[in-house]
Amino acid sequence: MMAADPGQEMHALVERLYPLCRSITGDGVRGTLDIIGEHIPLTVHEVPTGTQVLDWTVPQEWNIADAYVADATGRRVIDFRESNLHVVGYSTPVDTTMPLSELREHLHTLPEQPDLVPYRTSYYAPAWGFCLTQRTLESLVDGEYRVVIDSSLTDGHLTYAEHVVPGRVTDEVIVSCHVCHPSLANDNLAGIAVAIFLARELAAADPHYTYRFLFAPGTIGAITWLARNAEAIGKVKHGLVLACAGDAGSVTYKRSRRGDAEIDRVLEHVLRASGRPHTVREFSPYGYDERQFCSPGFNLGVGSLTRTPYAGYPEYHTSGDNPDFVLPESLVDTLAVCREAFSVLDRNHRYVNLSPYGEPQLGKRGLYDSLGGRSDAKQAQLAMLWVLNFSDGEHSLLDIAERSGLPFDSVADAALALQSAGLLKE
Ligand code: ZN
Repeated sequence: MMAADPGQEMHALVERLYPLCRSITGDGVRGTLDIIGEHIPLTVHEVPTGTQVLDWTVPQEWNIADAYVADATGRRVIDFRESNLHVVGYSTPVDTTMPLSELREHLHTLPEQPDLVPYRTSYYAPAWGFCLTQRTLESLVDGEYRVVIDSSLTDGHLTYAEHVVPGRVTDEVIVSCHVCHPSLANDNLAGIAVAIFLARELAAADPHYTYRFLFAPGTIGAITWLARNAEAIGKVKHGLVLACAGDAGSVTYKRSRRGDAEIDRVLEHVLRASGRPHTVREFSPYGYDERQFCSPGFNLGVGSLTRTPYAGYPEYHTSGDNPDFVLPESLVDTLAVCREAFSVLDRNHRYVNLSPYGEPQLGKRGLYDSLGGRSDAKQAQLAMLWVLNFSDGEHSLLDIAERSGLPFDSVADAALALQSAGLLKE
């Protein structure tokens, strides 16, 4: 058998998760977490309806079995079984008959994109509706239609899950993905697939930080997590919100609200040093759950990594965001950016030169010999000199890499060698 291809594996996961009817609560989220849990162990949390979470309240749980609009002959002209996007998320139950003129008020289309079905929700105002293509709408003839939404809104729970990769320190990095969109592939499923693979790689890499992966419904899920973890939030030193991780576009990094948090500097360094085409954006209080993590009371060092950003592509929040829109090679590339960034973050410490008066003699400590066979001996020697000179407790290895123009890996290797030789202390 051929070795598994991570791009194909991540894409297969996107395809498998795609049909589930996720929302901010309900069995679609649970089913999604069950599948994620087949890949990485999860701690699933169920928070009861009515629970106060910061300024919000956990809503009633929504579930849906079926929904359709049928014409006079009984033919389903809009059918939830074909795509869960056909029903407005959180639609209240309906079972009635009405003329097209009245039904129209509940129908949502995209006249500018006549072949795509829009994604709509009505979480916090009771309503019902259907989404369909403009072409289907135009094909509907006047007359009476049977309208059925077999949904339920009941006191239940909001469900979210965590997966922790223990590090050598208890300081944490959070990686957060939303899990509340139904059949939308790039916008939520691609991020989930990358996060799963990232968690497995980190577990094998014996990381410095403890990495906490959060799979929660957008907005209310992040708010619920923050409300339940407010006491321990000081442990969270860095974070990344992952979304839109698989489209054909180049990578976009959106800075944290702080703008110069360590995660911001790391991502910018890694993207620049890699030579990838990329865009860096300033923080804005819009987008994904960086809005919550970077709300002023928390103001965490949490940035957001996407390819084409939030609302930045025509297929965004439409049936066009299907598994074909997600490319295995883009998933692999997003995973690589995360891997490279966390590898830098994990090694980005500050050191103190224990022999700061004049250059210490490297030769007598065997530090030149150790470079003998290396093709990059000159660079490695330079890196040692830079690390020795700037390790004053103020400059991090990333500061030194940027100031010297040397690759971070060389600088980090130099620090390790100098530490083993007793010349450097963290
Ligand atoms: Zn979205």
